[in-house]
Amino acid sequence: MDFGLTDEQSLLQKTAREFVTRTCPPERAKEWDESDTYPVELFTAMADLGWLSLPFPESIGGAEGGITELCILAEELGRASLDVAMCYAGTFIPGLTLLRWGTPEQHERYLGEMMAGRARLVVAMSEPDAGSDVAALRTSAVDAGDHFVVNGQKAWCTGAGLPGSIIAMYVRTDPDAPRRRGLSLLLIDPNSPGVEVRRTPTLARHILGTNEVFLTDVRVPKENLVGPLNGGWEVMLSGLDIEKILMSAAYTGTAQATLDEALAYAREREAFGRPIGSFQSLAHALADLQTEIDAARLLSYRAAWLLAAGRACTREGAMAKLKGSETYVAAARWGMQILAGHGFSTESVMSFRWRESIVATISGGTSQIQRNAIARSMGLRSS
Ligand SMILES: Cc1cc2nc3c(=O)[nH]c(=O)nc-3n(C[C@H](O)[C@H](O)[C@H](O)COP(=O)(O)OP(=O)(O)OC[C@H]3O[C@@H](n4cnc5c(N)ncnc54)[C@H](O)[C@@H]3O)c2cc1C
Repeated sequence: MDFGLTDEQSLLQKTAREFVTRTCPPERAKEWDESDTYPVELFTAMADLGWLSLPFPESIGGAEGGITELCILAEELGRASLDVAMCYAGTFIPGLTLLRWGTPEQHERYLGEMMAGRARLVVAMSEPDAGSDVAALRTSAVDAGDHFVVNGQKAWCTGAGLPGSIIAMYVRTDPDAPRRRGLSLLLIDPNSPGVEVRRTPTLARHILGTNEVFLTDVRVPKENLVGPLNGGWEVMLSGLDIEKILMSAAYTGTAQATLDEALAYAREREAFGRPIGSFQSLAHALADLQTEIDAARLLSYRAAWLLAAGRACTREGAMAKLKGSETYVAAARWGMQILAGHGFSTESVMSFRWRESIVATISGGTSQIQRNAIARSMGLRSS
């Protein structure tokens, strides 16, 4: 058993760490967040480094890396902020789904543009009345010969308003089938006639932005169907496995950076004539957090390893997502306590970390939904 990275992976990690320091330190991520700025140049720089081609096969212009390499980058970019990590990792959730289920023409057109940094893929599953219970989604796509006509409303579509976005949207193509059997995945250009994207005001996620998407008689060509018609549930499940693993890596990075910042403060700040980190109550909290973060990292890499090996990873992905997200929330909460008044100032990076952390246990499936999945894998009926 080997818990280490290869030389190539270590180099990738080092490059990414330097990239964050140079291009997107947390202070800058905070400024982007506060000014609702999406730094296009960041995505372009990632393309120039070859990071957007990383997990794709050479046959379509990729670099033949894997999910582990994506996790390394998601973790390092998470040191900047969760939103920065999602700027990178978010596009691979539908991107790898497209790789698995798409046609060669779709690979060439969409993944080619994505690898060049000109397109980013975003995913739209959720609706106002279909969040955790995503199979309740109602947005409909009706067969009209050489195209579908799509009507409905999506919610929380992260990144749909950004330049070059293509929406990977789950729709209902058979209203009479049992609810998990009548779904399909379509690729939709948000600039198509009949699509309106409206940004949702949120506590954080201001760099990518999250949006409602309204669809009125939108014509979507049949060649934009990904995977089998009415087979969208299996496609979605495979995408969710990828999402949980990539997000868990990002949470590990954000949690580690949060802890590092709290630790640095605890070493410097003095009270009662000694560094506050020497008080046992704080020292133990920091020690516990580092232990939790290491556990989260190991769960994340185990799940990535299973996925890369083509093995089932739904349970392990749920564990990684649950542990990573809850550890990030705990790190940010402790960070605020340790920085105390300094953290509560909205000028502090810690206040930004805390604000960003709240969504970790919600998006990509709530903690309750992850626990349900884990319990189900243990033979417990849990819904
Ligand atoms: C910032 C942000 C970005 C997002 N980005 C995207 C995106 O890009 N694409 C996308 O499709 N979606 C996205 N989402 C949606 C996200 O996946 C949903 O918010 C999430 O799945 C929860 O759904 P909900 O908010 O409707 O909560 P609900 O499903 O209404 O849940 C409310 C509460 O009930 C609990 N609950 C529900 N069912 C159960 C159950 N069976 N057992 C126990 N507890 C339960 C939940 O855990 C939660 O605490 C995003 C959300 C946010 C906030």
